[in-house]
Amino acid sequence: MPELPEVETVKNTLKNFIVNKRIVDIRVNYPRIIENDLDQFKRAVVGQLITDLDRVGKYLIFVLEDTAFVSHLRMEGKYNILTKPEFSKHDHIIFYLDDGTYLSYNDTRKFGRMVLSSKSDYKNQLPLSKLGPEPFCADAKVVYQRIHKSDIPIKHLLLDQTIMAGIGNIYANEICFAMGINPFTPGKRLTLKRVEQLVQASCKILEAAIAQGGTTIHSFSANGIDGLFQVSLQVHLQKECKICHSEIIKEKIKGRSTYYCPKCQRRKS
Ligand SMILES: [Zn+2]
Repeated sequence: MPELPEVETVKNTLKNFIVNKRIVDIRVNYPRIIENDLDQFKRAVVGQLITDLDRVGKYLIFVLEDTAFVSHLRMEGKYNILTKPEFSKHDHIIFYLDDGTYLSYNDTRKFGRMVLSSKSDYKNQLPLSKLGPEPFCADAKVVYQRIHKSDIPIKHLLLDQTIMAGIGNIYANEICFAMGINPFTPGKRLTLKRVEQLVQASCKILEAAIAQGGTTIHSFSANGIDGLFQVSLQVHLQKECKICHSEIIKEKIKGRSTYYCPKCQRRKS
């Protein structure tokens, strides 16, 4: 699943291809991706100039002249720019642009969603309004308040987008490793100081991933440009700890694959 760094890479890459181009038509092959009434969505976007592309957490926001729409890639969604109308069966939404190119939304698993929003107020409208701050602007005291009575494992709290937005399964594993903390540790065991370290570790890991273009696992790509960060992953998908050479343990926490080193992540607070 694309996380904050991957969506940032998609945004930065796509921006060069679509900003200041006009959507002249749209073809929808799988209407369920669009949460609005289909005709309403089409009326709102066709004829509109794309003025900007933004990102909040794991969401992409297409800002148009008079409106905006929010796109969530979920598990496998990706955007491609095509110069010829050679679409694959997984190209579910195709935006025809006025320079003769095509912006295609491709999603093998069809879990991605798009919904209309307000061009000037999208951050305060659903689905973005329910998100917590990204780690870069999170106040550790507020995060501490949210988790200091919780019995939920810290790994799972990192995935809760209402506490901090943008972290998914890969980076939650990496953040726990950087903290030396056992991912099953309940939130209530962390002191304010540890929560400050948690926020700092989250920023550091996401920033490093953004700098390297996001992680390529499964099928992430932005117009053919893949992330390069997978070589730097310390614990996620690893077999052996890069620090102590212990065997990395893989277990599920709330259905999500959790990787940790039994030796380096002994801390339970
Ligand atoms: Zn280790």
